[in-house]
Amino acid sequence: MHTRRQVLKAGLGLFAYGATGVSNARSLISARPPASRLADLSGKSCRPLATRYRDPKPRLIDGLPFKNWFEGDDFNDGLNIPFHSAENNFPGGVPPEPDEVVQVAVVGGGISGLASAYLLRQYNPVVFELHSIFGGNAQGGVIDGAEYPLGSAYVITPDPGSALDHFYRELGLHEVTRPDVAAAPVEINGVIHEDIWSGIGVPPEDVPAIEAYRKLVLRMADDYPDVPFPEQWMRDLDRISLRQHIEEEVALPIPATLSAAVQAYCYSSFGAGWEEISALLGWNFLAAEEFGRWVFPGGNAWMADALWQRLRDLDHASPMLAPHLRAGSRVVDVRVRPDRMVQLTWRTPDGLFRSMLAQHVVMSCPKHVCRHVIHDLERIDPQRFNAMNLHRRAYVVANVLLDRPVSRDFYDIFLLGEPKSFPMSEGQATSFWRYTDVLDGSYANRRDMLPGRPSVLSLFWPLAYDTARFDLVQGDPVLAFGQALASQLNETLTLLDMPRSAVREIRFTRWGHALPVAQVGFVANGIAHAIRRPFQDRVYFVNQDNWALPAVENSLYDAFETASTIAAALG
Ligand SMILES: Cc1cc2nc3c(=O)[nH]c(=O)nc-3n(C[C@H](O)[C@H](O)[C@H](O)COP(=O)(O)OP(=O)(O)OC[C@H]3O[C@@H](n4cnc5c(N)ncnc54)[C@H](O)[C@@H]3O)c2cc1C
Repeated sequence: MHTRRQVLKAGLGLFAYGATGVSNARSLISARPPASRLADLSGKSCRPLATRYRDPKPRLIDGLPFKNWFEGDDFNDGLNIPFHSAENNFPGGVPPEPDEVVQVAVVGGGISGLASAYLLRQYNPVVFELHSIFGGNAQGGVIDGAEYPLGSAYVITPDPGSALDHFYRELGLHEVTRPDVAAAPVEINGVIHEDIWSGIGVPPEDVPAIEAYRKLVLRMADDYPDVPFPEQWMRDLDRISLRQHIEEEVALPIPATLSAAVQAYCYSSFGAGWEEISALLGWNFLAAEEFGRWVFPGGNAWMADALWQRLRDLDHASPMLAPHLRAGSRVVDVRVRPDRMVQLTWRTPDGLFRSMLAQHVVMSCPKHVCRHVIHDLERIDPQRFNAMNLHRRAYVVANVLLDRPVSRDFYDIFLLGEPKSFPMSEGQATSFWRYTDVLDGSYANRRDMLPGRPSVLSLFWPLAYDTARFDLVQGDPVLAFGQALASQLNETLTLLDMPRSAVREIRFTRWGHALPVAQVGFVANGIAHAIRRPFQDRVYFVNQDNWALPAVENSLYDAFETASTIAAALG
């Protein structure tokens, strides 16, 4: 059996592809790029972790100052929540003539796309990103000198010498990380408990079940079920829910504190409940937490930004294909031609349609986008087309800017409130308008914290029900979310000994299709296989939804594998 450590230490030989840097860069294009593209060369505003500004006229809701509009998905222009249905029709019905030729094009500028492009940088890739900012869910902001995450927050501590460890070091992440090895504190009925897993803070009658659960966690961490889930026992585990597995293995009545704690983690990490998600996929996350976390300033936006900067450098080394990072560019059509070149068409920020030819295309956008962008997929590969119709959940993150550091040193506190009231079904989740955990958004910078320095609390608010996307847009969503947040925030500030007057601004981020649901049978029923495998040997898939496991590590594994395949083909 491969444990996580064995898999990670397998070497993989992945970094050779990028190791020669841009000096070997090859381009099939000979013409100068059009002037309009050169105009975008600086592109400073599209970086994943960038300075943002406080709202000069914040909106007061229950006496608290809110930024007037959301960060993250901006649904107003109709572009950023695309492809609920086929929308890939351009004028005249045929794509324009290609006017560029590249070796590699990447669709989607989140961590998956940026990492894929970085690993293939010697081939001069071009990356298309729908939003005006790169990073996908791993964007961040800097306000008053304080970094904060808009979504993706931390990675699991890499094993020394592993492929991930090399990758992070190459990006300089080990220099800025602050590890978090402690058990996550849990709030129960207004009291923070540092480690309920050791039995402290829970009723004595609950201790045997919690102890049995702890042993199960340690066993799963040892047997760690990791992608690509090669063994039969892993696929068997995928056929039952996480809840069923825990109940069977613990073999004692599950106390409310334990079920609420597991549920809060599943909501926060998967946007779905333990009764919905596969035991296999659930343990891939839960057990990994045993290895500790690495936290960067601005969360995983720091990683996205490090990748972005290195790719940006390609513009100077190889200006013929500049800009390599094309923000505000929505890819609308991808088709493999009879000559095996891939024609890719996108809508420019000016609203024009343009085409290029690529030898290989990496689709790093979500699968519900892929299924409509890949031309005629429904007819060519109906099984894949149907499998790509993944179930997704929405998410809100609220960043609370404070005028001082938080006195308690913590990374992530799970807020259970009254555990018996915690929702245990999707139906109950619809009326559960609360954030599940509060992160110290300034955790990675804590050692620099002086009394007068601002800090940030990041409130993670998963919406673990299917219709939540509509709640993000209907009526006056800032008011609705603001009112729901205000009373809970009062409790959180009290917990952390922070006066309300310390709040400078509250900024909401919303994500419409944030997370794929890690549903039971996703691996065992062949959905993962159907959606991940390359299409016509020219189009590849690297995204968090490949395994319905929304974690940076899983995106990176698939980026490594895909980069290796493409590099072997390009020679
Ligand atoms: C609130 C939240 C918290 C999270 N916390 C963590 C965490 O702590 N740790 C962790 O490991 N993971 C976390 N995740 C999961 C995280 O999203 C992934 O780890 C990772 O950032 C996903 O990257 P991705 O590139 O696969 O997908 P995405 O970030 O979704 O990127 C896909 C990109 O494709 C773009 N795109 C879509 N359509 C098109 C098109 N037609 N043309 C061009 N571009 C297009 C999108 O705009 C987007 O930028 C979190 C997710 C959320 C929502």
